[in-house]
Amino acid sequence: MPNKKIVVAIDGFSSCGKSTIAKRLAKEVGYIYVDTGAMYRAVGYFGIQNGIITDNAIDGERLRREIGNLRIAFRNVGDEQHTFLNGVDVEHRIRTLEVGNAASRVSTIDFVRQEMVRRQQEMGAAKGIVMDGRDIGTVVFPDAELKIFVDADAEVRARRRYNELTARGEKVDYRSVLDNVVERDYRDTHRKESPLLRAQDAKLLDNSSFDIELQQKVVMAWFEDAVRRSVS
Ligand code: C5P
Repeated sequence: MPNKKIVVAIDGFSSCGKSTIAKRLAKEVGYIYVDTGAMYRAVGYFGIQNGIITDNAIDGERLRREIGNLRIAFRNVGDEQHTFLNGVDVEHRIRTLEVGNAASRVSTIDFVRQEMVRRQQEMGAAKGIVMDGRDIGTVVFPDAELKIFVDADAEVRARRRYNELTARGEKVDYRSVLDNVVERDYRDTHRKESPLLRAQDAKLLDNSSFDIELQQKVVMAWFEDAVRRSVS
């Protein structure tokens, strides 16, 4: 197989299994994996911790002043990739429902998106990257050699999310997780700045009833095909 490196952009709704697909592909082909949702979560977490984000308001001026100084990085801890904020491992702290909500709110702000997109484009400049998010194939890497749009029914996604949260010891009920999924979908698809859209040239992967092994085979075949096309 030719070894030319490409960019793989994976987009889709929250909790649709994007990151599982992206991580597995990156591992199998030896690419860097970037979870852009974790970057927005890190901003949301920072905002909550510093009183910039409260239940009913965001202090936009303070966030604008601070955002350029936030150091967000990914490092391997054991065989997992963790998110670091200003040198501190925040991987577990950013995965709560509360931080997910804050991330969804800050991700509607234009200067937050511009800063994150700029950083993401830098990370992928040398290619050999699998990036997942909401706007990777449309805004961050519109020329990505392979674009995948992942979808699954809201109930299936809410059930997965509920299982993940309860496995981690969070006390949540299924109904509020479902409401949260629906609310985030709405915000993601209706915001002015880079709303979640399927790029015209993205391949659609609906994984409501697809098992992960099968998905991986499909994605691997798409990947090999994209690499072949990029060298010819
Ligand atoms: O994917 P995850 O649920 O971790 O993302 C957290 C939030 O960040 C999402 O609700 C979404 O609104 C936002 N996000 C985004 N653009 C991305 C990745 C995530 O707006 N590229």
